[in-house]
Amino acid sequence: MNHPIARTPEEWAAALAARGERAFVAKQVFGWIHKKGVVDPSKMTNLSAKLRQALADEKLSEWMTLDHVHHSADKTRKLVLRLADGVTIETVLLPSVSGPGSPADIDADSAAAPDDDEDDEAEAAPLPNVVRVTQCISTQVGCAMGCVFCASGVAGLKRHLEAHEIVGQVLAGKALLGDNEQLRNVVFMGMGEPLHNYDATARALKLLTHPEGIGLSTRRVTVSTSGLVPEIERLGKDFGGQVALAISLHAADDSTRSAIMPINRKYPIGELMAALRAYPLPKRRRITIEYTLVAGKNDGPDQAHRLSQLLRGVRVKVNLIPMNPIAASALGPSDWERVLSFQKVLTDAGYSCFVRRRRGDDVSAACGQLALLGAKPKVKGFKEGRL
Ligand code: SAH
Ligand code: SF4
Repeated sequence: MNHPIARTPEEWAAALAARGERAFVAKQVFGWIHKKGVVDPSKMTNLSAKLRQALADEKLSEWMTLDHVHHSADKTRKLVLRLADGVTIETVLLPSVSGPGSPADIDADSAAAPDDDEDDEAEAAPLPNVVRVTQCISTQVGCAMGCVFCASGVAGLKRHLEAHEIVGQVLAGKALLGDNEQLRNVVFMGMGEPLHNYDATARALKLLTHPEGIGLSTRRVTVSTSGLVPEIERLGKDFGGQVALAISLHAADDSTRSAIMPINRKYPIGELMAALRAYPLPKRRRITIEYTLVAGKNDGPDQAHRLSQLLRGVRVKVNLIPMNPIAASALGPSDWERVLSFQKVLTDAGYSCFVRRRRGDDVSAACGQLALLGAKPKVKGFKEGRL
């Protein structure tokens, strides 16, 4: 059974009809939680006292505590959230660096966010001085995929997150945004493999993009995967290709990829590329290829040429990420010259290829660094009347 925070408006309607409530009340409750970010029933002022009490009895607001917020010098914020069973998870807010509309927007850790030039729908122009924020969220505590360069992979899987725990990260993040900040993109690039936790991820996607809730545009939500082929197909079918897809490729040949990403032994590169070609990508949109450059493992010029051949004919953009060091591994980032030569091979071959800058490094918020923290709770609850 889903937690009430993860109910759709239709499910609220069914649950409340059983109590004799009328249909519009379901919309009101859903709107309080997802549009206004209010989960304390006593603050839901347009509901009857009887219903507010019933919602309080469902323990609507007692499921997540803001444990700590780490502020980075570059304005990145890492939130540590404590779940009902005491486990902590992390989510990161990444404000755009050089203001709205700047190309530098996409040259950050938020690089998997869609480019503005890919817009194929009319969208309201951003207000002046509004800082667009990308939020990076987690889907599991740890990860079972065991990629050797990743803190979550080294930790192993502790448990899946439920849909309300995934969406709750966004509610918590939104509650911390400044008056001039606007949540623009959500990327499933925190702890865990989203497609290994498919049902909760799919439900979270539906809730985050529901027009009566947070209302994110589907193409501004990016699911990043290490390459679970059947679930890539499922995601394509379930969302008609509208959800933005990022693939953690990290190598262009099977032996290199299997050595750093064990999932490649199950779904080798050939099968993964076939799934990408079959993904029902809307026109003018591209799949993001993530390529973490690990010194001496996958960063040579021959590997860059091989990657360029492998991606031929697929609509992609490539993000190169010099590996962020993690405590549990002696592997490290490629030096800058090697990164630039790797990028040059791809740009010379006609690909859009960006190098991601490291963000939030001083608070261990960069890609692959989210780990399992054991700190004691420090801050209970978010802003008043919220979570
Ligand atoms: N499990 C999913 C999403 C979470 S990881 C996936 O693998 O795609 C998000 C991104 O961070 C992936 O591209 C992943 O390969 C990358 N990453 C993991 N550890 C990293 C590290 N130490 N340095 C740089 N990128 C890393
Ligand atoms: Fe899991 Fe992604 Fe880390 Fe690999 S890179 S271990 S799939 S979180």
